[in-house]
Amino acid sequence: MISPAEPVPAECPRCRATKIEVRSTSPVAGVWTIWACLTCLYAWRSTEPIENTNPDHYPVPFRLDPSQFSDLPVDPAIPPPRKSDH
Ligand SMILES: [Zn+2]
Repeated sequence: MISPAEPVPAECPRCRATKIEVRSTSPVAGVWTIWACLTCLYAWRSTEPIENTNPDHYPVPFRLDPSQFSDLPVDPAIPPPRKSDH
């Protein structure tokens, strides 16, 4: 298991979910950690600017609400199956 270089963030910056795991750590121990949200799949490095790492500073237009995930459209849309010539 990868050990984080710093405490696990309390919330995902994008969706505020609390299930967060370590994806990677710096080759030189203690320099940075890459975190990933298991709810919205956002990933961020601990050394990124505050608007990428802190939910209170994350840009409002890009925030996600997990309760609305089922309402999000699939983009691009999946076309219907092609009819076979056989
Ligand atoms: Zn998230």
